[in-house]
Order: sequence, then structure tokens, then C-alpha cells
Amino acid sequence: MSFVITRLQEALRHGIINKVGVRCFSRGSVVFQEESEAPSNEPPVDPAKDRRNPVPVETSIRYLASDAYKETYGSEPVWKPFRRNHKGSLPPKKTRRTCIRSGIISTGSPCPICRDEYLIIDHRNTALLKQFISPYNGEVISYEKTNICQKQHKNLLIALHRAHDYGTITYDVDFRQYDYSDWYRPEEDQQKN
Ligand SMILES: [Zn+2]
Repeated sequence: MSFVITRLQEALRHGIINKVGVRCFSRGSVVFQEESEAPSNEPPVDPAKDRRNPVPVETSIRYLASDAYKETYGSEPVWKPFRRNHKGSLPPKKTRRTCIRSGIISTGSPCPICRDEYLIIDHRNTALLKQFISPYNGEVISYEKTNICQKQHKNLLIALHRAHDYGTITYDVDFRQYDYSDWYRPEEDQQKN
């Protein structure tokens, strides 16, 4: 017994183990447990649902130009093949608030943006942003059609606004024909003078 205790003291002194719990002296058995550096009581996270380390935007831009992307989505927008999973025959008016809580996917049917970890909404990622702009009127397509969650839709609006500011995405403004004679009549000015 004394030998065991001496060895434990040595181990403690040299920093091999952090903490020693000694029990059952009367029974003649020594139980000691090494305390780990970071005690983790959390259940292991499914790597497919882990979004705690987001992919950089540069990787996402390269992904959208890659063969792997074409194989997955083809020439369709990313939201096209997605179907919402809802109760009853009619879907709720708004999509869910968010799919990712505390960096982990918290739903069985995450939205088309959240489900693919390589799709990052950013003002530099123009190939992705353009998929959410209507080709007919240039407006942002509603979340009722694209089915992305409210959080990602908000991110999308911010990224589009920023892209317009940086000039990475161009947009048309209404052309307005002015009749300047309504404001300026040189003949009247000459008469006054
Ligand atoms: Zn989502």
C-alpha cells in the first residue's frame, strides 16, 4: 500500500496525473482516476450536422464552380429540388426561424442553404446570390418559393445589399423620361429680366 501511495505522490509531483482519488483503503484496494483536461459530458455530435466551424467563403466560391456542385444540383438553382416538410396539406406561411442552433443542425429537414455546408451566403459569392434573384423582374425571390429559413433569408438580403454597394452584382433601375420644360422655361426668364 505504501508503495502505491509513494508512486502516486511521485506521479503527482512530476505532473503525470492531475488529481488522485484514493478510495477503499480498508479493503486493501486503491482506485485512482486521472482527471482529463476537458471533462466532456456532452453527447458526441454527428459530423454531418456539425456547423460550428463554417467553411470559408473562398472554398464556397470554388465549390460553386466545381464538378461536384454540377453533379449535385445540375444547372438548377440550389432551392429548386428542395421540398418543405410540413404538417397537413398547406405549408405554414413563414419558413422556420432557423435550422442551426448553437452551431448544430437542429431539424430533420434543414433548408437548402443550411443543409449544404459548402453554400455560404456572402457578397463575394455572386454565383449563389444570383440564384435568388428573379430573372424576370430582378427582385429577390420570396422565401415562400425558395423555402430558405428566416435567418438565411435575412443573411441573403444583407449580402445582396452589400453586393450592390460593392458592385459585385449589378441591377437595373427604372428609366425615367424627364420633361425639363416643366421646370425650366428660358423664354419666361428672359421676359422677367
Ligand atoms: Zn436554414
